Amino acid sequence: MEHDIHDIEEAAGERAGRRDRAVRAAVEQGLLGPDAAVVGLLDVTGIRRSAAALRAAFEAVTAPGTPVLHAFAVKATPLVPVLRLLHEAGIGAEVASPGELALARAAGVPPARTVLDSPAKTPAELREALALGIAVNADNPQELDRLDDLMRSAPSRSPLGIRVNPQVGGGSIGATSTATRTSKFGIALRDEGAREWVVRAYLERPWLTRLHAHTGSQGIPLPLLARGVAETYALAEEINGRAGRRQVDTLDIGGGLPVNFAAEETAPTYAGFARLLAEEVPGLFDGRYGLVTEFGRSLLAKHGTVVARVEYTKSAGGRRIAVTHAGVQVATRTVYAPGAWPLRIAAYDAEGRPRTGPEAVQDVAGPACFSGDLLAEGRALPVLEQGDYAAALDTGAYYFAHHYAYNSLARPAIHGFVPDGSGGIAFATVREAQTIAEVVAESGGAHASALTTPHAPGSR
Ligand SMILES: *Cc1c(COP(=O)(O)O)cnc(C)c1O
Repeated sequence: MEHDIHDIEEAAGERAGRRDRAVRAAVEQGLLGPDAAVVGLLDVTGIRRSAAALRAAFEAVTAPGTPVLHAFAVKATPLVPVLRLLHEAGIGAEVASPGELALARAAGVPPARTVLDSPAKTPAELREALALGIAVNADNPQELDRLDDLMRSAPSRSPLGIRVNPQVGGGSIGATSTATRTSKFGIALRDEGAREWVVRAYLERPWLTRLHAHTGSQGIPLPLLARGVAETYALAEEINGRAGRRQVDTLDIGGGLPVNFAAEETAPTYAGFARLLAEEVPGLFDGRYGLVTEFGRSLLAKHGTVVARVEYTKSAGGRRIAVTHAGVQVATRTVYAPGAWPLRIAAYDAEGRPRTGPEAVQDVAGPACFSGDLLAEGRALPVLEQGDYAAALDTGAYYFAHHYAYNSLARPAIHGFVPDGSGGIAFATVREAQTIAEVVAESGGAHASALTTPHAPGSR
């Protein structure tokens, strides 16, 4: 059985080969060039394989017939065509804002396959979710008060739960660690009196049937993720024991599987993580509990590439610098926190063929006007020439789909690609490039004299 699962995680070389062919085809077909100097590319085949690998990994460890909903964390790649692709591959949606909910609905993800988590849900958002029948995890006691009011006025079929923070500790990246002692998410389970408060909250509300925890994202070691799940399971057992019935029928174990940004290989794998959970928390998989997962980065990261033209090459203080069109606007985390979020860079020539030849230490810089705008600093790479392309790999989640409007740089186009069956590559538009007219419109262009007319604030 292990072999079957591993076969689904494709060989790293296959993915890299598809990516190289896509870059070449993008140049040949004019999707990349002097007038389209930066694009995002999404590998449809790879996304489908990861979705299949996720489903197979949990099918292999759950009792037959166990309901399992894999809800993709929309924040990782908030693109409607991606959500539709995942939906067709059997993956639902985890949303955390009105915008993300609207994206999931636009993609056709049904309410029964949607989960709403967010630390700041308004009464209107909660009312809409309950009217639609979307699952909601309450973050805190005040939100539970709001759910009480809504359930009194109009009972809902939404599965409802509480998010807890098992406080098992953080990982190597503070900003993505959600189970620290003072994290802002959920009910801090180890605080004085908190555990008893949670148990009572369930005993007083028969409609609370789920329990949720998300221990963190990139940088959390697997044993810590597993401990977060184990603590949540133990709490569900305690609630059900005190209730004398299976009140909590579903555990939502969150996402957070880390991505290997250092090499092509997928590691850890879903299969490995599911086996670890089955060893550490066997009771979770014996058929008494339904499961919800919320993986984001691990489903998409490896399948996205941002490719940018080298506009100029130069040197400063003995350092080679390739000035490209990809920087802080498409790789915000990497540029602001390069130590925590290093990216692999691949070099292609002006025809889009992988650059070989001697390596040299160089900076791969972005187009933005601050000196820290670097995709990679002091990196040994084949020497990039003017007109070449530099590709930032593993950027399918939390990168080019998360445009940052520094310097009014336009959002690049995103193209999905698939092998066309006869040796070529077929592209489909996922998102159009933003036009300069749109940049102006989104920057108050329709209100040019708002501050200078006689009625403007502060005028006499
Ligand atoms: C961000 C988030 C996820 C997804 O995390 P990944 O690291 O992208 O898998 C899942 N659940 C919640 C509640 C989140 O905030």
